[in-house]
Amino acid sequence: MSETKSEPQLHGPDVYAYEEGRLYLVGSRCPECGAAFYPPQAVCARCGHRGGDRLLLGPEGTIYTWSRVHRSTPEFQTPYVLVYVDFPQDVRVLMPLADGVEPEIGATVELEMQDGPRLEDGKAVPLVHASPLD
Ligand SMILES: [Zn+2]
Repeated sequence: MSETKSEPQLHGPDVYAYEEGRLYLVGSRCPECGAAFYPPQAVCARCGHRGGDRLLLGPEGTIYTWSRVHRSTPEFQTPYVLVYVDFPQDVRVLMPLADGVEPEIGATVELEMQDGPRLEDGKAVPLVHASPLD
């Protein structure tokens, strides 16, 4: 996916990455205590160590729980579903579920870039979503 610098972004290229055609979130792991974070942290929240190693989250995770959102800011069309996804790298991340999908606790998901909030000009901002594998 190519993006121009003038396009609005909710995610900078520093918080997601494509590896071998699959989308990952980019977090960090503390080299001192092993705690993992998303987004990446400059200082470990567990032990205070400065600096973290780059950690790719994904390409799959499991829905821990979900919530249907009925009220939001005008940029987000409601209702939509937010899910907490547990990644095998020991990080839980809140993100939207792909459009038109019914949430299911325990379902395996992968990451997918989809349209997110719409700006005043009607243009959608890309946003990482959880998308069921099946
Ligand atoms: Zn630490």
